[in-house]
Amino acid sequence: MNSRFEAVNKAFEQTPVYGAPPAMKTSDYYGCHVFNRAAMRKYLSRETRKMIYDSIEGGLLLDKSAAGYVAAGMKQWAMDLGVTHYAHWFQPLTGGTAEKHDSFAEPYGKGGCIEEFSGRLLAQQETDGSSFPSGGLRNTFEARGYTAWDPSSPAFIIGDTMFIPTVFVSYSGESLDYKAPLMRSINALNKASASVLSLFGEEFERCVTYLGWEQEYFLIDRELYAQRPDLVMTERTLMGHSSSKNQQLEDHYFGAIPMRVLAFMQDLEYEAYKLGIPIKTRHNEVAPNQFEIAPVYEEMNLAVDHNLMVMALMKRIAKKHGFKVLFHEKPFKGVNGSGKHCNWSIGTDTGVNVFSPGKTDSENLRFYSFVVSTLRAVYKHGGVLKASVMSASNAHRLGANEAPPAIISSYIGDQIADALDEIGSGEIAKMPSKRGRSVGIPQIPELMFDNTDRNRTSPFAFTGNRFEFRATGSSANCALPMIALNSAMAEQLIEFKSRVDAYVAEGKELEQAILSVIKEFYVDCKCVCFDGNGYSDEWKDEAKCRGLDCETSVPLVFDQYLSESTKRMFESTNVMTESELEARAEIYWESYCMKLDIEARTLADLAGNHILPVAMDYQSKLASGVANMKVILDEQDYEKATAAQKEYIMELADHIANIRSECKAMISICDRITDKDPRDRAIVFHDEVVPYLESIRDSVDALELIVDDRAWPLPKYREMLFVR
Ligand code: ADP
Ligand code: MG
Repeated sequence: MNSRFEAVNKAFEQTPVYGAPPAMKTSDYYGCHVFNRAAMRKYLSRETRKMIYDSIEGGLLLDKSAAGYVAAGMKQWAMDLGVTHYAHWFQPLTGGTAEKHDSFAEPYGKGGCIEEFSGRLLAQQETDGSSFPSGGLRNTFEARGYTAWDPSSPAFIIGDTMFIPTVFVSYSGESLDYKAPLMRSINALNKASASVLSLFGEEFERCVTYLGWEQEYFLIDRELYAQRPDLVMTERTLMGHSSSKNQQLEDHYFGAIPMRVLAFMQDLEYEAYKLGIPIKTRHNEVAPNQFEIAPVYEEMNLAVDHNLMVMALMKRIAKKHGFKVLFHEKPFKGVNGSGKHCNWSIGTDTGVNVFSPGKTDSENLRFYSFVVSTLRAVYKHGGVLKASVMSASNAHRLGANEAPPAIISSYIGDQIADALDEIGSGEIAKMPSKRGRSVGIPQIPELMFDNTDRNRTSPFAFTGNRFEFRATGSSANCALPMIALNSAMAEQLIEFKSRVDAYVAEGKELEQAILSVIKEFYVDCKCVCFDGNGYSDEWKDEAKCRGLDCETSVPLVFDQYLSESTKRMFESTNVMTESELEARAEIYWESYCMKLDIEARTLADLAGNHILPVAMDYQSKLASGVANMKVILDEQDYEKATAAQKEYIMELADHIANIRSECKAMISICDRITDKDPRDRAIVFHDEVVPYLESIRDSVDALELIVDDRAWPLPKYREMLFVR
């Protein structure tokens, strides 16, 4: 039997491995593998705890002696849970996370050893980071990189290792990761928010920036995955004819979760709860085999760490259940891709959410001040916001017909837009409260509808008490778009405050001053608001007229990192320096090139070694059939009996010839450009290689429909996409 059939049979016969959901209540073990406040109470003195809380909440530097006490407490806590190793855990610019494990065990020279973990080891480690991308920030002669402890994200245990969240910086202090700029952007935004909030007489100690992510993903059977070299090498199928049934019936969305998948989810949730990750929601997504997991929103730095931890857990737990989890934004052509919606809001330690419309005039004024500043941030920095979600893999989503378009606009709904228009007249618009609406069944009470409708096509939508940045890709570190968004918002809030202050200094009444600035901001950025269908062609034309950034070429989108307004925004908020931005642009161009180079070579190999031989075999089989018939049939019958075969032979010939010549041409482009600088190479990949990837695929997919199913070497879409 063909090995594809064997794999398919195995996949169908898989019985669920039940997860480990224990007989305990979630609250009994939630957070048991995190060095959280409960653990600190047990392992740290009151004074040390106070110092660490001050450091977490007030952003104060923890002094050396305190770090020593914390390290001792952490070591004891970890060892009590059977841990033998520790690792500085960081987020390099490659994406994903990196870790280097060291043992607590330290030989003392007389044949024995003791467990050691000092404040110095906790606080800082030197790493030979030369194989992490640095975009020129770290010359090879200065290969040292440093990881430094982030006390605001707690240490956690997986297996025998205690992980310590850290930032990763070069010898000269430039950031080589996502966490450092994320923390800087959060600080900038919290400070700017606090200063604007002070205009409204709000009582609070500090502002908090929140993130609630929704992670979409695909699961496919491991046996089938292993039979698809394209998935193994690139995480997406470079070929594969659509299955006759995919998502058109929309029967998967919110449908019953398949048993095997549910077992995986239960296991995943169990592990996540032990790490204190507040998972809340699980459901089927639109595409077959596509699912979503989402936690309750958290302080942003922690939320990002938790997302990365969950992604790592998913990979591991999927394996145990015979699955492979795919985070690629578009693993299958013709079915929906995966995103990672980032729900973003700003609040205070006293529970205010600045995006919650209020009841009093002052609360409403506050609400509109923050909404309008957000809109202006999105308007002024739409280009870099788009760059922050763009990648080789997310490019399949952005601009395609089912995901946020490649034009960054914002949906705020009629009511808020009307209210902002009214503010032009000098009135404080009342935020309409939720409207009750009868569902038409007497036994069922009125439902409360949110005052914003849902607009699924908007990349940046207001959803009642937060903005939802939907363009983020499922495989991305959501720190990246959040860094851009926080910084853009911080910049706008700073300007908002200074304009209000200037009016007040001129003698304007505070309320009038605020209203004036809201009005000015809105007039300035109104054209970024769009409530219609973001996928339509009319919108593309309209957006161009409005002067919005409509660029879709990935390498050119990355140019936005280096625009004057981007540099100004990041520098004025102290989030990133010019050289850090240059390094990033360089890394993103490089990584785009590498991904496309791998895709091109994988496709050429697969087409040449797997598909063409099978197609040619089939062609010769048909040809010998045609020849054999000549022996047994008279001329008239012969013509009739072989007409279809001959047509097939010629169709096969066409596709075979196309594949062969296009693969050659594509690879010669890849070989030709190796010396160019990354941006120029990326442009060639985008303009010349991508079209080949598509047209070669078209020929292969056409062959899939012609060639005998029994001979086809790769699992087909219909086999991979329907987990039983
Ligand atoms: P939907 O799929 O309809 O967008 P979900 O329930 O899947 O809704 O996800 C909503 C996400 O928004 C969750 O992660 C939730 O925690 C988050 N969220 C809710 N309120 C806020 C808020 N004020 N700030 C940030 N995130 C929020
Ligand atoms: Mg959502």
